[in-house]
This record gives sequence, C-alpha cells and structure tokens, in this order.
Amino acid sequence: MSRNSSHHLLCRHKARLLLRLPLDPAAPVVPRVRECAERWTDNLLFALRECLPDRRLFCRVFPLLLWLPIVPQLPPEHAELVPVQFKISNEPLFPGDPLRLAISAEKAISRAEASFGGQRVAFYRVAGGREWIGLAGVDLETKAGRYSIQGVLSFEEGPSQPFERHVRIVPKRFPVQRIRVDEKYVTLNPEDSKRSEAESRKLEAIWKTSSGQKLWEGRFLKPVSSELSSGFGRRRIVNNKPRSPHSGVDIKAETGTHIIAANSGRVVLADDLFYSGKTVVLDHGLGLYTFYGHCSRLDVKQGELIKKGAVIAAVGSTGRVTGPHLHWACRIHEARVDPIKLTSSLLAE
Ligand SMILES: [Zn+2]
Repeated sequence: MSRNSSHHLLCRHKARLLLRLPLDPAAPVVPRVRECAERWTDNLLFALRECLPDRRLFCRVFPLLLWLPIVPQLPPEHAELVPVQFKISNEPLFPGDPLRLAISAEKAISRAEASFGGQRVAFYRVAGGREWIGLAGVDLETKAGRYSIQGVLSFEEGPSQPFERHVRIVPKRFPVQRIRVDEKYVTLNPEDSKRSEAESRKLEAIWKTSSGQKLWEGRFLKPVSSELSSGFGRRRIVNNKPRSPHSGVDIKAETGTHIIAANSGRVVLADDLFYSGKTVVLDHGLGLYTFYGHCSRLDVKQGELIKKGAVIAAVGSTGRVTGPHLHWACRIHEARVDPIKLTSSLLAE
C-alpha cells in the first residue's frame, strides 16, 4: 500500500469517526461500556487491516486509534451528574426475598421510577423525605444470577438522571415435601378445573392493581403466633405428582384460632376459593399483599380498611389441606415472597 493510499484511507476513517455521535453520558453505564468496547474493537480491526502493511504508519496510528473511543466519554456534562448513593438493605438476596433499595442523593429527589426483572419497583419516602425506598420482590422461582435495577431519578431542581444498580441473586435449595390430600384437588374434574383457572386469573388481576399509597406501618406481625408446620418454597409432591412449590408458610393451629391482620391494609378479596378455601387478601399498598388461606370463617368484607392486629378470620381446614392450619403468603407485585421476611425490621421504615 502506498503512503498516499494509506493517507486516503485514514482520512476516510477519520471522517467516519467524526460522523459518529459521541457516547451519551446520560445513558446507563453498561450500554456505554459496551459501545465503547465495540468502537475499540472496530478501531483495532481497522488498524490491523489497513495500516499493518506499513509498519511506521501502523506504529504512529495504532495508539491514537485506541484512545478515540475513550475521549468522547469524558464530556463536561459528567461533572454535573448528581452523586447518588444506592444500598440494597438485605444483600445477599435469595429467591423469595423482598428487595429493599435505599436511595439518597445530595439534591432533593422529587420522584423515583425503576424496574427490576420486568417488575415495577414501588417507591416511598422515609427519613423525613431525604431517603427513598424502592420495594420489589425476588420471585420464589427466580434463577440465580446477576440482575439489574434500571430507573430514573427526578430532582426538585435540574434535569432527571438515569441509574442502574446490579444485584446478585444467590441460589437457594428448597427441600422437597410429599403430602397426601383428597384426590379431587390433584386430578381436577372439568368443573373444578374451570373454577380454579378463573380464580387464578382473578388473583393475577389483583396483584396488578395495588393501591399507590403505602398503607402498612412498622414491622409485620405473624398472624397466628404458633409454630410453622411447613416452610416457604418447599417443592411439593402432592399424591405422588409434582405440583407448584409452596408459595407461603403453614402455621399450625386449632380450628377457630384467631387470625390477625399482619399489617394495616385494604381487603381486596374475602372469598371461598377452590385450593385455598375461605381466603382473605390484604393490599398494604405499593404492590405489597398478604394472603390468608384455609380459614374456617371470614370476619371481613371486600373493600374494608383493616388496622394492623385486627382479627380478620379464624383458622380452619377449607380447600386443599391435610389438616387445620393457616396458609400465610405474601406477594410483592407478582413475585411470591416469604412472608416471614416481612416480620423482620426490613420494611419497618
Ligand atoms: Zn400452605
């Protein structure tokens, strides 16, 4: 290759680089790094392909080309980003855990929005408005790995700012549990099958329509004080057939034992369901729900606002059971979360 033609090629390449837009400093970090790496690879290939035959030219041009993708990454706008602190309150995270993301910034935040694994993260303010808490759930069947929370923060003054925070979900092995129940709950007749499908759709719709207002206060109470008879997440073999994992905890108690509301909330379901029998669902706001199944009687009606600790039902053995107990479960949006995790101080503030 003659020096002249190399010069031509370089001019063409330079023009190509100049035509490229600078990397957007407001874009999330991962795509920016990826784009930078792609440009670096592009330039390296260009240098090898076009300049290698002329060693002197290659030595002069190659170091410059390596810097080209980096330079546009450092515009003055970077200096104007508001420093923000992110903290996951309960790392390491396991399947079935609530996820609490605390955000604070040097400027007053006026709004926070984010998503995690396709789920909306609901935010509320604590510490006199200085800190924002994002709440989401890690579903019981989430595969272990690295996930990201992506969102946007708006400030009382100045432009909004995107953010990305990575979280690692650690694997957890849930024990297998074999139970025996009435066969009608395992091999469903067409009528029961239709009924259970309709009820499942009704519940799915409920998980999507939470109150935008935080209704719970302080840490959650265990609705019945006795011991657990079956833990959260157990892989269930029912009458020798694999079934959905246990999405709540079972609290063993005698029929008629009072069940109290784990926290304040609105009754969004008080009904007799095929699998869970007489059931109450409380909406605590911001996508957080508690579920009380197999009751012998219900003391509340749909739409009622209930105070933490109020009696809402009594323990029974309605629906698919092996004996009297309370099936207590929690949803955060659609994620199935271990309700016992709510009784810690995690969501107390
Ligand atoms: Zn249960």
